[in-house]
Amino acid sequence: MKSVLFSRFFILLPWILIVIIMLDVDTRRPAPPLTPRPYFSPYPVGRGGVRLPLRRGSSGRGAEKRNESRPQPEPRLPTIYAITPTYSRPVQKAELTRLANTFRQVAQLHWILVEDAAARSELVSRFLARAGLPNTHLHVPTPRRYKRPGLPRATEQRNAGLAWLRQRHQHQRAQPGVLFFADDDNTYSLELFQEMRTTRKVSVWPVGLVGGRRYERPLVENGKVVGWYTGWRADRPFAIDMAGFAVSLQVILSNPKAVFKRRGSQPGMQESDFLKQITTVEELEPKANNCTKVLVWHTRTEKVNLANEPKYHLDTVKIEV
Ligand code: UDP
Ligand code: MN
Repeated sequence: MKSVLFSRFFILLPWILIVIIMLDVDTRRPAPPLTPRPYFSPYPVGRGGVRLPLRRGSSGRGAEKRNESRPQPEPRLPTIYAITPTYSRPVQKAELTRLANTFRQVAQLHWILVEDAAARSELVSRFLARAGLPNTHLHVPTPRRYKRPGLPRATEQRNAGLAWLRQRHQHQRAQPGVLFFADDDNTYSLELFQEMRTTRKVSVWPVGLVGGRRYERPLVENGKVVGWYTGWRADRPFAIDMAGFAVSLQVILSNPKAVFKRRGSQPGMQESDFLKQITTVEELEPKANNCTKVLVWHTRTEKVNLANEPKYHLDTVKIEV
Protein backbone atom coordinates (compact mmCIF):
# COMPACT_ATOMS: atom_id res chain seq x y z
CA MET A 1 0.00 0.00 0.00
CA LYS A 2 2.79 2.36 0.99
CA SER A 3 4.76 1.61 -2.16
CA VAL A 4 1.69 2.34 -4.35
CA LEU A 5 1.29 5.73 -2.69
CA PHE A 6 5.00 6.46 -3.17
CA SER A 7 4.96 5.56 -6.84
CA ARG A 8 1.83 7.76 -7.42
CA PHE A 9 3.56 10.61 -5.64
CA PHE A 10 6.67 10.33 -7.84
CA ILE A 11 4.58 10.24 -11.00
CA LEU A 12 2.74 13.42 -9.94
CA LEU A 13 5.80 15.26 -8.63
CA PRO A 14 7.14 16.54 -12.00
CA TRP A 15 3.66 17.82 -12.92
CA ILE A 16 3.32 19.64 -9.61
CA LEU A 17 6.73 21.24 -10.18
CA ILE A 18 5.78 22.33 -13.71
CA VAL A 19 2.59 23.98 -12.43
CA ILE A 20 4.52 25.79 -9.68
CA ILE A 21 7.14 27.07 -12.17
CA MET A 22 4.45 28.27 -14.61
CA LEU A 23 2.58 30.15 -11.88
CA ASP A 24 5.80 31.81 -10.78
CA VAL A 25 6.76 32.93 -14.30
CA ASP A 26 3.30 34.36 -14.88
CA THR A 27 3.32 36.56 -11.78
CA ARG A 28 6.71 38.00 -12.74
CA ARG A 29 5.45 39.20 -16.10
CA PRO A 30 4.70 42.96 -15.99
CA ALA A 31 1.02 43.76 -16.14
CA PRO A 32 -0.11 45.00 -19.54
CA PRO A 33 -0.90 48.74 -19.63
CA LEU A 34 -4.57 49.48 -19.12
CA THR A 35 -4.55 52.53 -21.36
CA PRO A 36 -2.50 53.35 -24.43
CA ARG A 37 0.76 55.17 -23.74
CA PRO A 38 -0.05 58.81 -23.00
CA TYR A 39 1.34 61.58 -25.17
CA PHE A 40 2.98 63.24 -22.23
CA SER A 41 4.95 61.92 -19.36
CA PRO A 42 6.58 63.81 -16.54
CA TYR A 43 9.93 62.56 -17.76
CA PRO A 44 12.29 64.47 -20.03
CA VAL A 45 13.54 62.70 -23.12
CA GLY A 46 17.04 61.35 -22.71
CA ARG A 47 19.70 60.45 -25.26
CA GLY A 48 18.46 58.13 -27.94
CA GLY A 49 14.86 59.11 -27.32
CA VAL A 50 14.68 57.21 -24.04
CA ARG A 51 12.57 58.91 -21.41
CA LEU A 52 14.70 59.38 -18.33
CA PRO A 53 13.57 60.26 -14.81
CA LEU A 54 14.13 63.92 -14.12
CA ARG A 55 17.18 65.02 -12.24
CA ARG A 56 16.51 68.34 -10.58
CA GLY A 57 18.92 71.05 -11.69
CA SER A 58 22.19 70.15 -13.34
CA SER A 59 23.61 68.51 -10.21
CA GLY A 60 22.43 65.03 -11.04
CA ARG A 61 24.79 63.43 -8.54
CA GLY A 62 23.15 65.21 -5.64
CA ALA A 63 19.76 63.76 -6.50
CA GLU A 64 18.22 61.91 -3.60
CA LYS A 65 18.15 58.14 -3.64
CA ARG A 66 14.84 56.61 -4.48
CA ASN A 67 13.19 53.48 -3.25
CA GLU A 68 13.40 51.45 -6.46
CA SER A 69 10.47 49.19 -5.67
CA ARG A 70 7.96 51.96 -4.95
CA PRO A 71 7.75 54.71 -7.60
CA GLN A 72 7.69 58.18 -6.03
CA PRO A 73 5.57 60.93 -7.59
CA GLU A 74 7.91 63.10 -9.70
CA PRO A 75 8.13 66.78 -8.78
CA ARG A 76 6.27 68.93 -11.31
CA LEU A 77 8.44 70.11 -14.20
CA PRO A 78 8.39 73.80 -15.09
CA THR A 79 6.01 74.22 -18.04
CA ILE A 80 7.64 75.33 -21.27
CA TYR A 81 5.45 77.88 -23.07
CA ALA A 82 6.35 78.05 -26.75
CA ILE A 83 4.99 81.11 -28.55
CA THR A 84 4.80 80.50 -32.29
CA PRO A 85 3.69 83.21 -34.71
CA THR A 86 2.38 81.70 -37.94
CA TYR A 87 0.81 82.94 -41.17
CA SER A 88 -1.07 81.43 -44.08
CA ARG A 89 1.09 80.25 -47.00
CA PRO A 90 1.46 77.02 -49.00
CA VAL A 91 3.99 75.48 -46.55
CA GLN A 92 2.17 76.44 -43.34
CA LYS A 93 0.66 73.05 -42.53
CA ALA A 94 3.94 71.28 -43.33
CA GLU A 95 5.85 73.60 -40.98
CA LEU A 96 3.30 73.18 -38.20
CA THR A 97 3.37 69.41 -38.64
CA ARG A 98 7.15 69.30 -38.19
CA LEU A 99 6.92 71.54 -35.18
CA ALA A 100 4.14 69.52 -33.52
CA ASN A 101 6.11 66.32 -34.12
CA THR A 102 8.95 67.84 -32.14
CA PHE A 103 6.82 69.39 -29.39
CA ARG A 104 4.91 66.14 -28.85
CA GLN A 105 8.11 64.59 -27.58
CA VAL A 106 8.65 67.29 -24.97
CA ALA A 107 7.07 66.80 -21.56
CA GLN A 108 4.99 69.57 -20.02
CA LEU A 109 4.94 71.89 -23.03
CA HIS A 110 2.15 74.36 -23.77
CA TRP A 111 1.99 75.61 -27.33
CA ILE A 112 0.75 79.17 -27.86
CA LEU A 113 0.09 79.40 -31.57
CA VAL A 114 -0.68 82.93 -32.77
CA GLU A 115 -2.02 83.33 -36.28
CA ASP A 116 -1.17 86.47 -38.20
CA ALA A 117 -4.76 86.79 -39.40
CA ALA A 118 -8.02 88.63 -38.76
CA ALA A 119 -9.59 85.38 -37.50
CA ARG A 120 -8.54 81.90 -36.52
CA SER A 121 -8.34 79.86 -39.70
CA GLU A 122 -10.07 76.52 -40.17
CA LEU A 123 -6.84 74.91 -41.30
CA VAL A 124 -4.98 75.78 -38.10
CA SER A 125 -7.99 75.04 -35.86
CA ARG A 126 -8.41 71.59 -37.38
CA PHE A 127 -4.70 70.99 -37.18
CA LEU A 128 -4.50 71.88 -33.49
CA ALA A 129 -7.51 69.76 -32.61
CA ARG A 130 -5.61 66.71 -33.84
CA ALA A 131 -2.11 67.76 -32.73
CA GLY A 132 -2.24 66.04 -29.33
CA LEU A 133 -0.68 69.00 -27.55
CA PRO A 134 -1.90 71.33 -24.81
CA ASN A 135 -2.36 74.56 -26.73
CA THR A 136 -3.81 78.03 -26.92
CA HIS A 137 -4.90 79.31 -30.31
CA LEU A 138 -4.77 83.09 -30.73
CA HIS A 139 -4.86 85.46 -33.68
CA VAL A 140 -4.00 89.05 -34.44
CA PRO A 141 -3.43 90.55 -37.86
CA THR A 142 -0.28 92.52 -38.64
CA PRO A 143 -1.39 96.00 -39.76
CA ARG A 144 -0.99 96.36 -43.55
CA ARG A 145 1.58 99.16 -43.19
CA TYR A 146 3.95 96.79 -41.39
CA LYS A 147 3.70 94.03 -43.99
CA ARG A 148 6.69 95.20 -45.95
CA PRO A 149 10.08 93.63 -46.63
CA GLY A 150 12.75 94.92 -44.29
CA LEU A 151 10.34 95.48 -41.39
CA PRO A 152 10.33 93.20 -38.34
CA ARG A 153 7.87 90.30 -38.58
CA ALA A 154 5.44 88.84 -36.07
CA THR A 155 5.76 91.65 -33.51
CA GLU A 156 2.01 91.79 -32.79
CA GLN A 157 1.73 88.00 -32.63
CA ARG A 158 4.55 87.57 -30.08
CA ASN A 159 3.03 90.36 -27.99
CA ALA A 160 -0.37 88.65 -28.11
CA GLY A 161 1.28 85.50 -26.74
CA LEU A 162 2.92 87.51 -23.96
CA ALA A 163 -0.40 89.18 -23.09
CA TRP A 164 -2.15 85.82 -22.88
CA LEU A 165 0.55 84.45 -20.60
CA ARG A 166 0.34 87.46 -18.25
CA GLN A 167 -3.43 87.36 -18.19
CA ARG A 168 -3.52 83.65 -17.42
CA HIS A 169 -1.20 84.02 -14.46
CA GLN A 170 -2.37 87.36 -13.11
CA HIS A 171 -4.36 86.03 -10.15
CA GLN A 172 -2.25 83.12 -9.04
CA ARG A 173 1.21 82.71 -7.67
CA ALA A 174 3.42 82.03 -10.66
CA GLN A 175 3.85 78.34 -11.33
CA PRO A 176 7.35 77.45 -12.50
CA GLY A 177 7.46 78.13 -16.22
CA VAL A 178 9.76 79.04 -19.08
CA LEU A 179 8.88 81.05 -22.18
CA PHE A 180 10.48 80.48 -25.54
CA PHE A 181 9.78 82.07 -28.95
CA ALA A 182 9.59 79.24 -31.46
CA ASP A 183 9.24 80.37 -35.08
CA ASP A 184 7.38 77.83 -37.18
CA ASP A 185 10.18 77.20 -39.69
CA ASN A 186 13.19 76.58 -37.40
CA THR A 187 14.60 73.19 -36.43
CA TYR A 188 14.71 72.27 -32.74
CA SER A 189 16.61 69.42 -31.09
CA LEU A 190 14.95 67.76 -28.11
CA GLU A 191 18.04 68.50 -26.02
CA LEU A 192 17.29 72.21 -26.36
CA PHE A 193 14.16 71.82 -24.23
CA GLN A 194 16.07 70.03 -21.49
CA GLU A 195 18.53 72.91 -21.46
CA MET A 196 15.96 75.71 -21.33
CA ARG A 197 13.82 73.95 -18.70
CA THR A 198 16.26 75.00 -15.94
CA THR A 199 16.17 78.71 -16.87
CA ARG A 200 16.13 80.80 -13.69
CA LYS A 201 15.79 84.24 -15.28
CA VAL A 202 17.02 84.45 -18.88
CA SER A 203 19.08 81.76 -20.56
CA VAL A 204 20.98 81.90 -23.85
CA TRP A 205 22.61 79.47 -26.30
CA PRO A 206 24.01 79.34 -29.84
CA VAL A 207 21.81 79.34 -32.96
CA GLY A 208 22.88 77.60 -36.17
CA LEU A 209 22.57 78.93 -39.74
CA VAL A 210 21.88 82.54 -38.89
CA GLY A 211 23.28 86.03 -39.43
CA GLY A 212 25.10 85.00 -42.59
CA ARG A 213 27.22 82.52 -40.65
CA ARG A 214 27.17 78.82 -39.80
CA TYR A 215 26.23 79.85 -36.31
CA GLU A 216 26.11 82.73 -33.84
CA ARG A 217 26.80 82.33 -30.16
CA PRO A 218 27.23 84.17 -26.89
CA LEU A 219 30.90 84.24 -25.81
CA VAL A 220 31.31 82.85 -22.32
CA GLU A 221 34.09 83.31 -19.80
CA ASN A 222 33.99 81.80 -16.32
CA GLY A 223 30.33 80.93 -16.77
CA LYS A 224 29.31 84.48 -17.75
CA VAL A 225 28.39 85.98 -21.12
CA VAL A 226 31.10 88.50 -22.06
CA GLY A 227 30.33 89.16 -25.74
CA TRP A 228 28.86 87.82 -28.96
CA TYR A 229 30.24 85.84 -31.88
CA THR A 230 28.16 87.28 -34.71
CA GLY A 231 28.61 88.42 -38.28
CA TRP A 232 26.12 91.23 -38.04
CA ARG A 233 25.95 94.31 -35.84
CA ALA A 234 28.03 93.00 -32.97
CA ASP A 235 27.34 96.33 -31.25
CA ARG A 236 23.79 95.21 -30.36
CA PRO A 237 23.54 94.92 -26.56
CA PHE A 238 22.15 91.40 -27.03
CA ALA A 239 23.38 90.20 -30.43
CA ILE A 240 21.14 87.15 -30.47
CA ASP A 241 18.40 85.60 -32.60
CA MET A 242 14.85 85.00 -31.36
CA ALA A 243 15.61 81.26 -31.18
CA GLY A 244 18.63 81.82 -28.92
CA PHE A 245 17.04 82.59 -25.57
CA ALA A 246 14.36 81.63 -23.04
CA VAL A 247 12.82 83.64 -20.20
CA SER A 248 11.34 82.41 -16.95
CA LEU A 249 7.63 83.02 -16.42
CA GLN A 250 8.51 84.88 -13.24
CA VAL A 251 10.57 87.44 -15.19
CA ILE A 252 7.77 87.90 -17.73
CA LEU A 253 5.27 88.54 -14.93
CA SER A 254 7.48 90.88 -12.95
CA ASN A 255 8.14 93.01 -16.07
CA PRO A 256 4.55 93.48 -17.24
CA LYS A 257 5.43 96.25 -19.70
CA ALA A 258 8.15 94.37 -21.57
CA VAL A 259 6.94 93.87 -25.16
CA PHE A 260 8.25 93.85 -28.72
CA LYS A 261 8.16 97.36 -30.10
CA ARG A 262 7.38 98.58 -33.58
CA ARG A 263 8.24 102.21 -32.99
CA GLY A 264 11.95 102.89 -32.82
CA SER A 265 12.89 99.26 -33.36
CA GLN A 266 15.13 98.74 -36.34
CA PRO A 267 15.02 95.44 -38.27
CA GLY A 268 17.07 92.83 -36.44
CA MET A 269 16.94 94.75 -33.17
CA GLN A 270 13.72 93.19 -31.85
CA GLU A 271 15.44 90.59 -29.69
CA SER A 272 17.92 93.06 -28.25
CA ASP A 273 15.25 95.70 -27.58
CA PHE A 274 13.10 93.12 -25.79
CA LEU A 275 15.89 91.62 -23.68
CA LYS A 276 17.08 95.12 -22.66
CA GLN A 277 13.74 95.57 -20.91
CA ILE A 278 14.02 92.48 -18.73
CA THR A 279 17.66 91.63 -18.03
CA THR A 280 21.34 92.55 -18.26
CA VAL A 281 24.16 90.79 -20.09
CA GLU A 282 25.81 89.95 -16.74
CA GLU A 283 22.67 88.14 -15.61
CA LEU A 284 22.38 85.81 -18.63
CA GLU A 285 22.61 82.08 -17.98
CA PRO A 286 24.65 80.30 -20.66
CA LYS A 287 23.26 76.90 -21.69
CA ALA A 288 24.39 74.20 -24.15
CA ASN A 289 27.75 73.52 -22.55
CA ASN A 290 28.72 77.16 -22.03
CA CYS A 291 27.29 78.03 -25.45
CA THR A 292 29.49 75.61 -27.38
CA LYS A 293 26.73 73.41 -28.82
CA VAL A 294 24.20 74.21 -31.55
CA LEU A 295 20.81 72.77 -30.55
CA VAL A 296 18.57 74.96 -32.73
CA TRP A 297 18.87 75.97 -36.35
CA HIS A 298 17.39 79.04 -38.04
CA THR A 299 16.36 77.01 -41.08
CA ARG A 300 14.20 78.67 -43.71
CA THR A 301 11.89 76.84 -46.02
CA GLU A 302 12.25 77.43 -49.74
CA LYS A 303 9.33 79.14 -51.40
CA VAL A 304 7.35 76.42 -53.15
CA ASN A 305 7.06 76.27 -56.90
CA LEU A 306 3.39 76.47 -57.85
CA ALA A 307 4.03 77.37 -61.49
CA ASN A 308 1.80 74.55 -62.74
CA GLU A 309 -1.05 75.12 -60.32
CA PRO A 310 -4.23 75.64 -62.37
CA LYS A 311 -5.99 78.99 -62.06
CA TYR A 312 -9.34 77.33 -61.37
CA HIS A 313 -10.04 74.21 -59.38
CA LEU A 314 -9.67 71.23 -61.73
CA ASP A 315 -9.47 68.22 -59.46
CA THR A 316 -12.59 66.21 -58.60
CA VAL A 317 -11.88 66.55 -54.87
CA LYS A 318 -10.86 69.43 -52.63
CA ILE A 319 -7.80 68.65 -50.58
CA GLU A 320 -6.26 70.61 -47.76
CA VAL A 321 -2.48 70.84 -48.11
N1 UDP B 1 5.40 85.38 -39.58
C1 UDP B 1 4.14 85.91 -39.39
N2 UDP B 1 3.68 86.84 -40.29
C2 UDP B 1 4.41 87.25 -41.37
C3 UDP B 1 5.69 86.71 -41.54
C4 UDP B 1 6.17 85.79 -40.62
O1 UDP B 1 3.46 85.54 -38.45
O2 UDP B 1 3.93 88.10 -42.15
C5 UDP B 1 5.90 84.37 -38.62
C6 UDP B 1 6.49 83.12 -39.28
O3 UDP B 1 5.49 82.14 -39.45
C7 UDP B 1 7.57 82.71 -38.30
C8 UDP B 1 8.02 84.05 -37.69
O4 UDP B 1 6.97 84.97 -37.92
O5 UDP B 1 7.06 81.89 -37.27
C9 UDP B 1 9.29 84.58 -38.33
O6 UDP B 1 9.09 84.77 -39.72
P1 UDP B 1 10.13 84.24 -40.80
O7 UDP B 1 10.44 82.82 -40.52
O8 UDP B 1 9.59 84.55 -42.15
O9 UDP B 1 11.36 85.18 -40.49
P2 UDP B 1 12.93 84.92 -40.60
O10 UDP B 1 13.18 83.48 -40.88
O11 UDP B 1 13.34 85.79 -41.71
O12 UDP B 1 13.47 85.34 -39.28
MN1 MN C 1 12.23 81.84 -40.14
